[in-house]
Amino acid sequence: HSKDVGRNTYQYFRVELNERVFERMSLENALRRALEDKDFELHYQPQVDSRSRRLIGAEALLRWRGPEGDPVPPSRFIPVAEDAGLILAIGAWVLEQVCRQNRAWQDAGLPAVPVAVNISAQQFRQPRFVDTVAAVLKTTGLAPECLELELTESVMLDPGERNVAVLSEIRAMGVRVAIDDFGTGYSSLAYLKRLPIDALKIDQSFVRDVVVDADDAAIVDAIIGLAHTMRLRVIAEGVETEAQLAFLQNSGCSEMQGFLFARPMPAEEFALWWREHFQYS
Ligand code: C2E
Ligand code: MG
Ligand code: MG
Ligand code: MG
Repeated sequence: HSKDVGRNTYQYFRVELNERVFERMSLENALRRALEDKDFELHYQPQVDSRSRRLIGAEALLRWRGPEGDPVPPSRFIPVAEDAGLILAIGAWVLEQVCRQNRAWQDAGLPAVPVAVNISAQQFRQPRFVDTVAAVLKTTGLAPECLELELTESVMLDPGERNVAVLSEIRAMGVRVAIDDFGTGYSSLAYLKRLPIDALKIDQSFVRDVVVDADDAAIVDAIIGLAHTMRLRVIAEGVETEAQLAFLQNSGCSEMQGFLFARPMPAEEFALWWREHFQYS
């Protein structure tokens, strides 16, 4: 009897595993085709100064409709793209697309603001990453100050000289660097101090319960204090409520991004939103 159970369990796992392997393979194939056809889209989410209510920047977020036509979240397809070695080509496409778009907005009379691009670890570790960034700025004619690169702590975990050198080169060009999802990684403070960066983005997992959870409130306060001490900009991600906004403002953080202000939007919609919501001189 127990042998039957064992066999059934084995069968069950084998079916499960096959399904997962199959799903991953078809996702990978679909991604490959999407890359050939440039079948991706970018959405742009406003970043605002919550006091002046002005748009101060945006983050570009990759969107993809899978083979069935439904949106596949980046949290599902980015890891597959990374494993399949497709992230370099996808990342290069994203970078160029964002610079081109930002340049087009300026040509259409919108003010110059930085637009942030998420950079995966593999991209950052490419030997010629800095050259790629410089080349894209040159071909698109975008000012370096209008590009921000978002890297996670894990990308920079290796505290070798290389990371510091690459970041210094990027910033020497005038391009900005932000640490994404800050607080979820393992950066030591000593290491953080050595990193040439411009901004910390407080991870949304801390912002979510900041009003009701004393630990999260303490963490958010600490990150804001740390940023100020190190003369870094600090921006809160995932701001959804007025109460979160009030807490953050009281704690000294005024740069925010979240559904309270706007969701990520396709380029045309983003430009309309921008023109409607914020005066600028
Ligand atoms: P991220 O860089 O931390 O991006 C912020 C995520 O939070 C986005 O999810 C955004 O849609 C979501 N978000 C913004 N405001 C709110 C809010 O108020 N509430 C909640 N619940 N969520 C909010 P998304 O677009 O699903 O992207 C997820 C992750 O995928 C990104 O996290 C980033 O790590 C990665 N990703 C997205 N686009 C790219 C890309 O072009 N390249 C790379 N390498 N990674 C990307
Ligand atoms: Mg990001
Ligand atoms: Mg983030
Ligand atoms: Mg994230």
